[in-house]
Amino acid sequence: MNLSCSFLNIVIVLAFTTSSGKKFHRLTVHCVKKYFLLFVLNLLPIFHTNTFTNPFSDSTLQEGDIVFRRKRSAINCDSSCFWPKSSDGLVKVPVNVSTEFCKTWIAEAMQEFTTLTCVQFINRTTETNYISVVPGESCWSHFGKIGGMQQVGLMKTGCMSKGAIQHEMNHALGFLHEQSRSDRDNYVKIMWEYVIAGEQGNFGKVNSNNLGLPYDYSSVMHYGANDFSNTSGKATIVPIPDPSVPIGQREGLSNLDVAKINKLYNCCSNVLHKPNDTFSSVNYPSSYPDNSNCLWLIRIPQHQIFLQFDAFDLQPSPDCTSDYIRVYDGSSRNSSVLLDKLCGMGSLPSLVASRNVMLVEFVSDEATAATGFQASYSQGEDSASFTELGDISNFCLANIHVQN
Ligand SMILES: [Zn+2]
Repeated sequence: MNLSCSFLNIVIVLAFTTSSGKKFHRLTVHCVKKYFLLFVLNLLPIFHTNTFTNPFSDSTLQEGDIVFRRKRSAINCDSSCFWPKSSDGLVKVPVNVSTEFCKTWIAEAMQEFTTLTCVQFINRTTETNYISVVPGESCWSHFGKIGGMQQVGLMKTGCMSKGAIQHEMNHALGFLHEQSRSDRDNYVKIMWEYVIAGEQGNFGKVNSNNLGLPYDYSSVMHYGANDFSNTSGKATIVPIPDPSVPIGQREGLSNLDVAKINKLYNCCSNVLHKPNDTFSSVNYPSSYPDNSNCLWLIRIPQHQIFLQFDAFDLQPSPDCTSDYIRVYDGSSRNSSVLLDKLCGMGSLPSLVASRNVMLVEFVSDEATAATGFQASYSQGEDSASFTELGDISNFCLANIHVQN
């Protein structure tokens, strides 16, 4: 009798052990030993990740590209799954990118996190916990921080679009697929009859923490309509009630992707896209918090941006090295500066961006004694067409293979 150690067998064996022969008893002991050994083995990579290189040896691949440790639930990721925030308010995630890649292009994809969120992907030097981006035969990532070195696999010919890279990095930050949200049935219908046999697990639904933010058809974390379809032209995911809503874009982080990262990591950065709006430092008009590093990316359609500060009160310091405001004429900290470090009190002149994008940065140190600022912006009267040129280098475009 060749009984295996399935859960059902264990139950049967335990139920009959007292009244059955030694064979069942031996099986029970054998199975308990086996499961204890598996338990111990499963823990080992968690604590010895520096010598652990095969990402699948102790893991299971779920939802197509997410690697879960057996001991970790995708649902119950606690704070240890998240990357820590440093004293300057930034979440610095060390990354090492394989020399086999065009690093410029991957850096462009990661730069968008840096610009729009408080998550900063930095070059890994000696940090213990870090992401290693390696070539893969598929595109995959672990879920959240696992401790030690953790790999992100990118297929050179399949997932080098900006959004696809961001998708995998976002898994490593602790995000699941958008269509696996607990409330997804209100927004999409899964067409099970068109899902490739054996791939149904990619369309599971989990008891997710939705952060109080809306379902996002535009998320880089959303599958495309025809992913895992067994029939050409037949969608596996259909948005409801409007089936024509596009899903599965991999062009770049959506507004809600950004909002969710900032919410999960308790950041204060935002993307403002209304033609006119008002924004302020955290807690305004009460004192702003210590060690904050907040960004407001104003990105409106086709018009220049006019910005004015309605109130301004920042802790003064020599050369404004403690707390300061800085405004950029573009979408990143690499853009030209419209207003360099400014602190203290008083009225500021209005600022005009040369295009439809402006970035406002607010930094505070560990000691605060001021109320912060409030600012408003509006679009210009002109009808000239401005588009965001972006900062994408053409250096590596020949090596890019965009995901279909
Ligand atoms: Zn994924």
